[in-house]
Amino acid sequence: MLLSEFRNEPYTDFSVPENRAAMESAQAQVRAAFGQEYALFLGGEQVRTAASRPSRNPSRPDEIVGVHCQADAELARRAVESAHAYFAEFARVPAAERVAILRRAAAGLRARKHEFNAWLVYEAGKTWVEAEADTSEAIDFCDYYALAMEKLAGPQPVSQIPGERDEMRYLPLGVGLVIPPWNFPLAILCGMTVAALVTGNPVVLKPSSETPTIAAQFCRLLLDAGLPPRAISLVTGSGAVVGDGLVQHPLTRFIAFTGSRDVGLRINELAARPQPGQIWIKRVIAEMGGKDAIIVDAECDLDQAVQGVLVSAFGYQGQKCSACSRAIVHTGVYEAFLEKLIPKVEAIRVGPADDPSHYMGPVISQSAMQSILRYIEIGRGEGRLLTGGGRADGAGYFVQPTVIADVLPSARIFREEIFGPVLAVSRARDFPHALELANDSEYGLTGGVYSTNQQHLEQARDQFFVGNLYLNRKCTGAMVGAHPFGGFHMSGTDSKAGGPDYLLLFVQAQSIAEKLG
Ligand code: NAD
Repeated sequence: MLLSEFRNEPYTDFSVPENRAAMESAQAQVRAAFGQEYALFLGGEQVRTAASRPSRNPSRPDEIVGVHCQADAELARRAVESAHAYFAEFARVPAAERVAILRRAAAGLRARKHEFNAWLVYEAGKTWVEAEADTSEAIDFCDYYALAMEKLAGPQPVSQIPGERDEMRYLPLGVGLVIPPWNFPLAILCGMTVAALVTGNPVVLKPSSETPTIAAQFCRLLLDAGLPPRAISLVTGSGAVVGDGLVQHPLTRFIAFTGSRDVGLRINELAARPQPGQIWIKRVIAEMGGKDAIIVDAECDLDQAVQGVLVSAFGYQGQKCSACSRAIVHTGVYEAFLEKLIPKVEAIRVGPADDPSHYMGPVISQSAMQSILRYIEIGRGEGRLLTGGGRADGAGYFVQPTVIADVLPSARIFREEIFGPVLAVSRARDFPHALELANDSEYGLTGGVYSTNQQHLEQARDQFFVGNLYLNRKCTGAMVGAHPFGGFHMSGTDSKAGGPDYLLLFVQAQSIAEKLG
């Protein structure tokens, strides 16, 4: 199959009674497994530690989803060294076998989709629909990278010098350190991990401390799919405690990171400094934050624009790197846009994520909530608060969807990533000014334009400088295969996950020329 013929995993329709029942029963099954203790997994063995950390349900923080052993610097070192000791053997596993493991992992995820959805509901605070998108994307990554690896395996086409046999082939790099964020705790974790594995690299996986149970469940699934146990190590622990040691270890060959700008830049800096005994330049694949804008032009379908901004800003509580956190609206439709938007925002139901009548669940943690509320206070002084502005009812980490209008480009809420349900709305004089405002950011991840003016759409294609540009549709929800994902500027290294070139980041090409006769 050609990569362009790849098809995404279809989403479950939860309006169908059987599907609702299946999801409810998966939630009950997962709740019954709450509170279990999870060990680290190093060199093919479970390792328990004296220190452990609970992972909580952000909808009801007194509920403990799982209890996780915590690595220290010494265990982190062991993880890298045991992965390195297995590298030569893993690199010799035929590509077809590694591809088959990914296909079995995809099948396993598909068979246990609602169970994984339920873990996402309870540990990450995802609503059913958001959890379904996360699990489906993980399935897509397995299937897509399996297909992509089939194209990379074996000799690549090169021209032939007369009298020589000329070849080029792709080799794995070595130990890959995979550091995912909590906001796509299955899809992004799975994507970076299986990309590294299918190309022949043993992985040391350090998941986010917010969502380690999903990571542990996924590791078990990979082992069930036939992954050799020594090919993956699961190192749960604080990024601040084990992160530097994992990144700086001389046997770490590359780092695949997705997370915030500051942590990404630190990893990049530490990885660039060679350590005693290190014999390569570490490769860093870093996808980072966003301050994504949707432009609403004077000529547009305003209802569609309002809907697109609404779902992009408040889906998963605004905790997506691709979330619309700035709406830049043409002055000609500015008030009309707000008049249509505000009632829709006020109609959003916020509450526990396991109740599908809620469009928004909790934010991930107490500290995330506090940080978002601080930004809302800053925003009150920087613009006109139109709706929201505080906590929503309930014991969970619930924050009201918040809209602050008349925000100038100098405002902090225009410039800094808030990572919560807070939308800044700014007025543009005309379309070129809207583009200028949209581009006025150190980030460059996603962007959207609602316009029926073809010339303006062409101008946006030429001048809106973001890794993922969406015209007349929402700016979230990139699909594997169709929308390779990655950002410009401080949004990252533009790795284009889910695209045809992604696996090239995990290999090195070797050229071999043999003189004949
Ligand atoms: P984060 O940077 O706080 O953490 C990301 C990961 O890094 C976690 O696993 C964390 O434990 C680890 N970490 C923390 N300190 C570390 C250190 N010193 N060394 C090594 N690892 C360390 O980010 P987060 O809060 O988990 O995720 C939210 C951020 O991720 C947002 O900025 C969001 O925009 C970004 N994000 C980007 C993309 C993308 O594709 N560009 C996708 C999802 C999320």
